[in-house]
Amino acid sequence: MIYLDNAATGRPYESALAAYLEVATAHWGNPSSIHEIGYEAKRYLDKARKTILATLGLAKTHDCYFLSGASEANNLAIKGTAFSFKSRGNKILYGAGEHPSVINAVLSLSKEGFEAVKIPLKDGAPDPEQLDPNSNGAILSCLMAVNNETGALSDIAGFYRFRASHPKCLLLLDATQAMGKLPLDYSKADFISFSGHKIGALKGSGALLVKKGIKLTPLIDGGEQESGLRAGTVNVAGAYALSVALTESYAKLKANLAKAEHLHALLHSGLEGLSPFVKVHDHKRQSPYVLCFSTLRHKASVIVEGLSNKGIMVSSVSACSSKKENTSYVLEEEGVSKGEAANPIRVSFGPDNTEEDVQGLLAALTQLFNEVKTI
Ligand code: PMP
Repeated sequence: MIYLDNAATGRPYESALAAYLEVATAHWGNPSSIHEIGYEAKRYLDKARKTILATLGLAKTHDCYFLSGASEANNLAIKGTAFSFKSRGNKILYGAGEHPSVINAVLSLSKEGFEAVKIPLKDGAPDPEQLDPNSNGAILSCLMAVNNETGALSDIAGFYRFRASHPKCLLLLDATQAMGKLPLDYSKADFISFSGHKIGALKGSGALLVKKGIKLTPLIDGGEQESGLRAGTVNVAGAYALSVALTESYAKLKANLAKAEHLHALLHSGLEGLSPFVKVHDHKRQSPYVLCFSTLRHKASVIVEGLSNKGIMVSSVSACSSKKENTSYVLEEEGVSKGEAANPIRVSFGPDNTEEDVQGLLAALTQLFNEVKTI
């Protein structure tokens, strides 16, 4: 089996599974309980929080809240900001290619009187040059570090500059596809969201990091867990595994990144050899962990299924929207022509992938392009 769908989810690290099991079997208390079993669980939770902030160099500037993943983290940052800071203004800015957990959270606020302002894409990423005209009354801008469908890397420094000159407009950085993969500076973002299962931890774990001093309105009514920001008994084992996976990701970041760059280049040049059949959608600023291309003569869903039958797993657009029609709103927002934006396939690398995986994929694609009925 060749697994090339790591942007959808990845295999958990052995270290993260061991950490989960250790806490779930030996320290399974409720961290809110005021007895020794509870204190023990709380020590693991506090250790996880400390490790995550220290690993990212954010111990002095941010707090860490555990929750179920990036979708929840994005919703909390967006709606929590809207409800806490509505006296400042009513505009929320978001990149045209953001993940649905951002776009739909922002759009849902239009019913509450907020205005959703879309930031157009330039070379696949939200263009910070387009921010100024829309900034009056803006309370939040939402930026993904790396696009999950295309791998386009955002101009984060450009958004940090905008943030510095607009103190009333907070910045959410959706780091889901960058965390533990790229050596990014998160320190100037007010909110940083990410999911455990994309970095070698488990599904149902994730975090929202919040700049110290910002008071968000919680979305769940309930107890006082996570300093009152996220009610519900905390998934201590999941949080601890998250911290262990993040530590491992950072320890291997340079080596994994160099390998991803090599595999990306290998696949890109192999696809160029198949040029009448494919159009590669790469960008000047690009995460090497993702490569998106469109099939020009075949239905992407048929090719993805054909690859799956040969034991090769890739994605037709993102797993989040792959049940919808076979086109990419991200590529359309990029300005790619309708013909070339249709039938996108996403290949995404993880720490386990090898050159043989890429060669296997290229050989299977060559075979399928010659065998499968054209459109
Ligand atoms: N943001 C981005 C950029 C993503 O890629 C994803 C997952 N596809 C999410 C948010 C949501 O993550 P989850 O499904 O783990 O909540």
